[in-house]
Amino acid sequence: MLKKIFEVLYKIYGPQNWWPSDSDFETAVGAILTQSVSWRNVEMAIHNLRRVDLLNPKKMYECPEDILENIIKPAGFFKVKARRLKNFLEFMKNYDFDFDELRQYDTDTLRNLLLSVSGVGKETADTILLYIFKRPVFVVDAYTLRMFKRLTGKDWKTYEELQDFFHKNLENDPDLFGEYHALIVAHSKSICKKKPVCDMCQVNQEGICEKATES
Ligand code: SF4
Repeated sequence: MLKKIFEVLYKIYGPQNWWPSDSDFETAVGAILTQSVSWRNVEMAIHNLRRVDLLNPKKMYECPEDILENIIKPAGFFKVKARRLKNFLEFMKNYDFDFDELRQYDTDTLRNLLLSVSGVGKETADTILLYIFKRPVFVVDAYTLRMFKRLTGKDWKTYEELQDFFHKNLENDPDLFGEYHALIVAHSKSICKKKPVCDMCQVNQEGICEKATES
C-alpha cells in the first residue's frame, strides 16, 4: 500500500528535490524555523539571513541574539526560534560547527544527541537525520498524520507508531523517505487539505483511501 501511494504521488507531482537549501546548515536552520509556520515565512527569514551573510554557523553563533531575533522575524515566534537556533549552535560548537564531525555516530546515538538540544523535537531531529545525514528515518509531520489517518482509517496515537509503519513497510532508503515526505507535503497542500478534495484525488481513483471509500 505505501509503495503504491508513493508511485501515485510521484506520478502526479514528480521529484520534489528536497530539502530546498544550499547547504547543510541552511537545512538545519530551515528545519528549526519551520516549526509551526508555513514554508513561505521560513523562506523570508532565510532570505534575510542570506542577505546579511548569517547562513554560516560561526557567524550566526557570534551574532547577538536580539539582532538574530529581528532578522528571523518573518518566521514567527522569533524570540523562541532565535533561542532554539542559539541552542543548536551551542551544540554544533562542540563539533567545531562541522556536520562531518557528527557523521561518525550511529543513527540512534545521533538522534538522541539532536533531541538533547533544547527546542529540537522529533520532527526537527528526524528532518536533520534524513536530509543532512541521509539516515533512513521517516519524518512524521502534521500533514503525514492527517493524510495517513484518512488513508488507513487508523487513529495513529503517537509519532513513533506512524513512523514505524513506514519503517516496517518500505525499504529503508533515505532517498525514498526524503522524496516520500516531500510528496506527502505536496499532496496535503493541494488536494488532501484540511477539507480534502477527494473527487479530484488520484489516490482515491486507485481505491486505496479508507476515508474516500467510506464517503
Ligand atoms: S481520497 Fe481524499 S482523504 Fe484520501 S488521500 Fe485523497 S484527498 Fe485525502
